[in-house]
Amino acid sequence: MSFCERLKTEASEGSPKACCRRARLFGAMLFAAEFSPEKLRVVTASEPVVKRISDDMKAVFGFRPDLRVTKRKEKDLYIMTVTDAARMSAVYRSFYPAGSEKGGINHMMLQNECDKAAFLRGAFMTGGTVTEPGKSYYFDFTTPSLRLSNETVTFLKELDLAPGAVLRRGVRVVYFRGAEKIESVLKTMGAFNAYFEFVNAKIEKEVNNGLNRTMNCDSGNARRSLEASKSQIKAISALKKGGRLGTLPDDLKNLAILRLENEDMSIAELGRQSSPPLSKTAVYLRLKKLEEIASGGSSEKEKK
Ligand SMILES: [Zn+2]
Repeated sequence: MSFCERLKTEASEGSPKACCRRARLFGAMLFAAEFSPEKLRVVTASEPVVKRISDDMKAVFGFRPDLRVTKRKEKDLYIMTVTDAARMSAVYRSFYPAGSEKGGINHMMLQNECDKAAFLRGAFMTGGTVTEPGKSYYFDFTTPSLRLSNETVTFLKELDLAPGAVLRRGVRVVYFRGAEKIESVLKTMGAFNAYFEFVNAKIEKEVNNGLNRTMNCDSGNARRSLEASKSQIKAISALKKGGRLGTLPDDLKNLAILRLENEDMSIAELGRQSSPPLSKTAVYLRLKKLEEIASGGSSEKEKK
């Protein structure tokens, strides 16, 4: 099941309060494929969405919409319709009582904070999509209606969210891009399971990216230290050839021999293998010294 399907399932979960149930049903109808005083048509691949709308319509209006299932290769498609004029006009009157402006978001229905969240859950049930978190960060409400798109943007902004809107292939899209904005809308919807899953997926991705960076960085380090080791060995070999190794102070001589025998050893490991053990800095400074001596310089210790 995709993240989008799980969010639709969570949005469809039972509601303890009648006010929220109505607000969610209102959101689901507004964002349905068709919602007018004559007709309701919901098209969805989500079974929980179908069950929720059907159950809530039965509870609120006393009837269930007609249901048709289209078998498809991937997922079945459910088409719910109400075409009975008397029934539809009762539904419409319930969401737009006498005196209220018909057709868009009726704010009279969404006075309570709980109902604003429930309305967004309903809108997502029929009009929402979201991509897999950790992969990409797209969250859309789609509707054929410009008016609904504009009103939704205003409504979301009043909830301190920051949506964008665009016309895409003849469909109005109210969208959120980026992890932070999607987190905010999930929280505002009250979809906390999805929210926590989303945050976890995001963190996991960041940790993985971080690990990759560290690993890239490590292999870079490994390459650099191997190059350094080669140049140290070249220097020490030259000292040995010139018979100067024996003239070096013991700490330099011992380290030189250790390096010569262990090309792959890291600075830290060389330090641990020395006796007495040396810090990384001490090893580094001594190796540098050896290279200096080999390239013609001489150490004060050597002169002693
Ligand atoms: Zn409520």
